[in-house]
Amino acid sequence: MLAGKVAVVTGAAGSIGAASARRLSEKGASVIVVDLDGEGAEKVAAELPGPAIAVAGDVSREDDVEHYVRAAIDRFGRLDLHHLNAGITGPFVELADLSTEDFDRVTGVNLRGPFLGVRAAFRHYRERGTGGAIVITASIASLRGSHDLLAYQTSKHGVLGLMRGAAMYGGPMGVRVNAVAPGLVPTGLFTAAKDESGGGNDMVQRGTTVPLRRTGTPDEIASVVAFLLSDEAAYVHGEVISVDGGSAMVSTVRP
Ligand code: NAD
Repeated sequence: MLAGKVAVVTGAAGSIGAASARRLSEKGASVIVVDLDGEGAEKVAAELPGPAIAVAGDVSREDDVEHYVRAAIDRFGRLDLHHLNAGITGPFVELADLSTEDFDRVTGVNLRGPFLGVRAAFRHYRERGTGGAIVITASIASLRGSHDLLAYQTSKHGVLGLMRGAAMYGGPMGVRVNAVAPGLVPTGLFTAAKDESGGGNDMVQRGTTVPLRRTGTPDEIASVVAFLLSDEAAYVHGEVISVDGGSAMVSTVRP
């Protein structure tokens, strides 16, 4: 379904990113596996069934983003699909206790990162004169409020603005831009947040508001990403798809 396409996945040494890289590779795409964790990226790339390269880089740094685009073009000659997925939560803290440094760090990775990625994608598409597709990993936190994840929530609301602006810009050029909004998926993201918060935050407790009564898996997110990046979704544009077991619709929950 994606044969001949070249795809970049950021945060691809992590749970959702690795599942997405695997899914895109299985569908025939060549994959550029990008992550801050260069060793992890190498490992994921080595295990993919199709052609792949790993690139170590920080998505919040302009030169690192340009570097992975150049690496893709040097190796595969083009770049068609982007899954801009790298993200961090920062600590779970009350708004009044959130430091400026943590706010800047989290929005730097989660909002500035996708901005740099989207802009680099469009510069490449414009130069090449062809279309493409972009998916940004948003979150249920893009759609709902939370008292202790202010920076994360702000950045994830922001990526929907970025996605819609990019979709308006890209539509006439044949570049589709969409977002996927995962609910609770137990991954390294939450372990890291828990560590930063001194052991606070109970994932299980957060999971009890899921109508399907279970957390999601990275593969369940990856399959929607692959759909959005494929021609199966040729008329889906400027959309955010929740993959959250129904969490985003909840107003009250039967105990
Ligand atoms: P994860 O921690 O397993 O993976 C995140 C990956 O991003 C890691 O490999 C990490 O090294 C990488 N990364 C972090 N900062 C980076 C940077 N500056 N540059 C490049 N790579 C960087 O977490 P995950 O759950 O797979 O998260 C993937 C995405 O899904 C994130 O954007 C996250 O916000 C989003 N998301 C996750 C959940 C969930 O419940 N796990 C829910 C909603 C949204």
